[in-house]
Amino acid sequence: MTAPDYTELAPPRQALSRGTGASRLTLTTPVDLLKGIGPSRAACLDRLGVRTLGDALLLVPRRYEDRRVLLPIGRLRLGELQTVAGQVKAVGIGRTRRGVPYCEMMLEDGTGTLLARWYRQAYLARAFRRGQRLFLAGRVSPYPPREMVNPEFEVQEAGDPAEAGYHTGRIVPIYHLTSGLSQRFLRRWLSDLVRAHAPQVTDPLPPAVRERHQLLPLPRAVTCLHLPDEMSEAAAGRRRLAFDEFFFFSLAVLRQRAARTARPGIAFQVPGALAERARSLVPFRLTPAQTRALESIWNDMAQPRPMQRLLQGDVGSGKTIVAFLAALAAIGNGYQAAIMAPTEILAAQHAERAQDLAEPLGVPVVHLAGSMAASLRRRALDLLAATSACLVVGTHALLQPDVAFGRLGLVVVDEQHRFGVLQRAGLLRKGSDPDVLVMTATPIPRSLALVLYGDFDLSVIDELPPGRRPVATEWVQERERLRVEQELRRRLGQGERGYVVCPVVEESAAELKAAVQTAEAYRRGPLGAFGVGLVHGRLPAAEKAGTIAAFRRGEIRLLVATTVVEVGVDVPEATAIVIEDADRLGLAQLHQLRGRVGRAGRPAVCFVIADRQEIGEEAQARLEALVREHDGFALAEADLALRGPGEFFGTRQSGLDGFRLGDLAADFSLLDLARAEAKAALTAAPELDGPWTPVRLAMEERWAARLGLAQVG
Ligand code: ADP
Ligand code: MG
Repeated sequence: MTAPDYTELAPPRQALSRGTGASRLTLTTPVDLLKGIGPSRAACLDRLGVRTLGDALLLVPRRYEDRRVLLPIGRLRLGELQTVAGQVKAVGIGRTRRGVPYCEMMLEDGTGTLLARWYRQAYLARAFRRGQRLFLAGRVSPYPPREMVNPEFEVQEAGDPAEAGYHTGRIVPIYHLTSGLSQRFLRRWLSDLVRAHAPQVTDPLPPAVRERHQLLPLPRAVTCLHLPDEMSEAAAGRRRLAFDEFFFFSLAVLRQRAARTARPGIAFQVPGALAERARSLVPFRLTPAQTRALESIWNDMAQPRPMQRLLQGDVGSGKTIVAFLAALAAIGNGYQAAIMAPTEILAAQHAERAQDLAEPLGVPVVHLAGSMAASLRRRALDLLAATSACLVVGTHALLQPDVAFGRLGLVVVDEQHRFGVLQRAGLLRKGSDPDVLVMTATPIPRSLALVLYGDFDLSVIDELPPGRRPVATEWVQERERLRVEQELRRRLGQGERGYVVCPVVEESAAELKAAVQTAEAYRRGPLGAFGVGLVHGRLPAAEKAGTIAAFRRGEIRLLVATTVVEVGVDVPEATAIVIEDADRLGLAQLHQLRGRVGRAGRPAVCFVIADRQEIGEEAQARLEALVREHDGFALAEADLALRGPGEFFGTRQSGLDGFRLGDLAADFSLLDLARAEAKAALTAAPELDGPWTPVRLAMEERWAARLGLAQVG
């Protein structure tokens, strides 16, 4: 087969049936070849991600407005979301008593008048003309006189009667816009396109699959998306198209997995004498959940194919020891094992712990940090190239081109969400086909795990070591600070340790200054006598390591830190954490931070500081969830629902931005169905040939380029 010419996300090239005589267009026809689209409109459409006819047909409306029966202004229902049409009677600019400028407009329709106001958008006054006809959509004030605040508006030219059918008298789609494109133009253009071309779209999905899940045929789904006769039709159209996204994605991921696991891997002898001995030296008993996870990992390692396994466990559930014991099994077989951590602090901590465990067993531990002196680094690299059986610990420094492994058998990636998919691939290239264990302490909602790690097997550590108590969490207002300080004082006085976290978003000078000042203030204050340290991302690694070590030993009992302590830092004596400006952090991060305390069974507290009046509704919801909920998985679900998947990781992750219709938070069950169907399809036809050929082509068109699947097809 010749390599297909992939177009990101374009639906199948074959999907427009041929020979209908309607046109020579296909779904990959560039938009600028379509009627009414010149270079400048094509550029605008490009900004909306619309490059081809297929993109256009799948452009998802942001919402819909029911303009079938518009209520006269005089009969608008108070307090409800409604759309209204009328004529501009007057426009003006005003200012509130606190000086906020606004645009004010009076709309009339012969039955009454409606006042509309747009705060902080006084410039809108220039956009409206007296006598102009408009649609306004928004919530009508609960009390008379009728008013709408910040309604959406659309100009309703009265001139061309042919236009009316597009914009009124039906449920109309409202699209995202970009400068240079008006809602009216886009709606009319798409309506015409959909009417002309949707019926010719061929459906790659076998009818049996469609019928099993009551999915609309593709042409109908596209039509319903843009031109629904009922709101329920729009929902049904969206559901079908979301199914497709999940289905084809799942297929691509599962095929990728199949391709990888078809390659020969190392069949380790497990656990082997070394790992058994190490296990007997661990100073505590593994929890049943740890044992289950470890056994599933060892079992995978024994298979003659490369392991791809995700180990999930809430903060403090004890993933590290499981990883070490997996690593020692590989090392016992004469291979190298690498553990990659997201921060230098965490890598150093892992290296230290690894040493405690491995050295009595005669296993060398190589620590590779980005900030190492050249000579030390050289020595580490030489050791790495020469020693077959050793444990390597480091950050993404491990990925640098000059790092050559002698005999890499297992890669453990800790706190995976911090690493991009590309970095994961980078480490894999270092060994021929090492086993891979990915660990994440940000409990990922199942739906996201399926997306990000769809090609992984999953082990979950779903219990905490015995004696752990939930960290008492309090949301504290600025004026209640004194209480926090008193509590810290009491705890530090008993030899316990505390963290004060200053969130940083970009480690900018200003943010770091805030951390420095906070540390200074504590040093001068009543807690200064207990020893106050500071760590942040811009400090030299040695200084950071020194401070953390002093904190561990108790010479410093209060550690002011930026979010560098977020992941993994493990100091058992720490029992209090204060999180400043907590509204700036996501739930996953807050939960991670909270996980820094209460790790040794002592009662611990977490204070999150933020003034209720000064933060948004969503931030309030986050903090309330943190106080109420202690289970990381439940919090992760809440976070996903609050923020959406793009924000969930703080950064956009490849793989996530490919979903336009599928809502990972809301469409759990649809994702499950799609995934099950994808599995069934691959069982029926592993090569997706014969009747499954259209499915394969559609999958390749959508996802192959993105996932580097070209060779699989
Ligand atoms: P995480 O899963 O967040 O990475 P760690 O592996 O850092 O957690 O473990 C948290 C703490 O719990 C560590 O101090 C570790 O030594 C301890 N620990 C791990 N497993 C057990 C266990 N089975 N019993 C008691 N303590 C444990
Ligand atoms: Mg950890």
